[in-house]
Amino acid sequence: MSPTCGELRGGDAGAAVTLMGWAFRRRDHGGLIFVDLRDREGVTQCVFNPATGAEAHAAAGRVRGEYVLAVRGTVQARPPGTANPQLPTGEIEVAVGEVRILNESKPLPFHLEEGVEVDEAVRLRYRYLDLRRPRLLRNFLLRDRVYQAVRASLHAAGFVEVETPFLTRSTPEGARDFLVPSRLARGHFYALPQSPQLFKQILMVAGLERYFQIVRCFRDEDLRRDRQPEFTQIDIETAFLDRDDFLPIVEGMIVEVFQAVRGIALPRPFPRLGWDEARARYGSDKPDLRFGLELADCSDLFRDAAFEVFAQAVHAGGVVKALRVPGAGGLSRRDLDGLVEEAKGSGARGMVWVRLAEGGPQASVALFRGDSALTRELAARLGAQPGDLLLLVADAFPLAAEVLGRLRAGLAARLGLIPADLFRPCWVLDFPLLEWSEEEKRWQAMHHPFTAPRDEDVELLWSEPGRVRAKAYDLVLNGQEIGGGSIRIHERRLQQRMFEVLGIGETEARAKFGFLLEALEYGAPPHGGIALGLDRLVAILAGTDSIRDVIAFPKTQKGTCPLTEAPAPVSPAQLAELGLRVEAEEE
Ligand code: ASP
Repeated sequence: MSPTCGELRGGDAGAAVTLMGWAFRRRDHGGLIFVDLRDREGVTQCVFNPATGAEAHAAAGRVRGEYVLAVRGTVQARPPGTANPQLPTGEIEVAVGEVRILNESKPLPFHLEEGVEVDEAVRLRYRYLDLRRPRLLRNFLLRDRVYQAVRASLHAAGFVEVETPFLTRSTPEGARDFLVPSRLARGHFYALPQSPQLFKQILMVAGLERYFQIVRCFRDEDLRRDRQPEFTQIDIETAFLDRDDFLPIVEGMIVEVFQAVRGIALPRPFPRLGWDEARARYGSDKPDLRFGLELADCSDLFRDAAFEVFAQAVHAGGVVKALRVPGAGGLSRRDLDGLVEEAKGSGARGMVWVRLAEGGPQASVALFRGDSALTRELAARLGAQPGDLLLLVADAFPLAAEVLGRLRAGLAARLGLIPADLFRPCWVLDFPLLEWSEEEKRWQAMHHPFTAPRDEDVELLWSEPGRVRAKAYDLVLNGQEIGGGSIRIHERRLQQRMFEVLGIGETEARAKFGFLLEALEYGAPPHGGIALGLDRLVAILAGTDSIRDVIAFPKTQKGTCPLTEAPAPVSPAQLAELGLRVEAEEE
């Protein structure tokens, strides 16, 4: 038989086998030579004994790291006391009778062993070697199972997979486009899609009803940590469904993916939180529900309190938000000063801490020390116990909530409150439709200009646009946004108003999205959809922090590919053909 290198077990002893793979580790014990042979599925120990295979033993003497071998031999139980319980094949080894060296390898630029730190630029330059590392290779086997589970789930729900163009026009996500010059129409450019948004809406007008695509998207942004200029989305659009019919379909897909890929049963339905509620309770619109530490509002306690700073904040329309951290009263003075600095780093003017110590409350502000009525009231409101730490921030609601939200996440990690391998998805709903841009002094779409307002808020679009809530939703998992979408506007009048509010004139709208607007005039059904970040989802399932660990050939932070050395200059002839000239870079 020709098993993989990850397959043989104790029960296979006695079987004649042929294995092929790479020489992962080699140990020469004088008489015996051991080679751990590795392929995609695992590692099997092969023993070369001069007494039973003199020629093979001699050949094994020439084998070096990453030589490619075919070995033929017999499976045998490892000698007593030498089994390796860490390795799935650890009970057995293959006594080699014959070996063929299928290829040699130069000495590697870095070790493939786990735990050896290698500079990322070097790893990406030799990505084919990097990917041989079992930990990394495993991510791609997992990613493949995710594709299959997504497709199976969506097909079962009546979805049709359709491809949309890469050479197209600007889409409405609002990032910078990657442009591709046209040779046939000089001076004209394609834009690589930031998402298939416009096409998927048009597919709804076309009558596809349920569309999905596992699709690459391109956004030319400065690469913040863990962003990639090209990334993969599970892109979905449906017709005739409203939000509450649609979200359970997406939820079902996520549940099936977790079940198929990790054998994990996610509890359904996923909790739903309003945008305001998420920020009020967790200080974030990407709430991490793996732990408690909910924020509380204590504004009323301070409205008339003798503590000027807080009272003033409340009278000015702000809030006093509080975070109770159970059992964290033991944090040192230095730790607490550090937390105050963190709060200031997030934009707070200050933060008050109160430690409910054995000998009475200690606090950064005198008013809360000792047996003060205010502290007693505060502790009662927060359900605080001796040994707890209380953190208080007074400011405008969004800032106070965000500051404590960040501390909440940081403290949970630091205090070990986040259980390993726990997955807590939730929906965040009712985002505002618009946000005010101070810089540009105009409203901007919080999602994109095709997102529909909630029915009960439509009239506000004419009077108070800032108060309009959107039929938009985000899927959040363990504090990370893994998807976002909305029910779309499908009526001309509303779309027109939306453009007006955004300060996009008729001509500009026609120029940018004319083809979609026209399509919407030919019997567009009500429709809506979502896009889920596949790379992020796979990273979470694989238990890695970096999406670069689940993208086969990722770019560096500077947007380059060390393997292919893209981007690269092109020849003057190629430029001439496109009618382009590159200006010399200014020093
Ligand atoms: N096109 C949106 C995005 O890529 C998602 C959607 O609205 O479906 O963010």
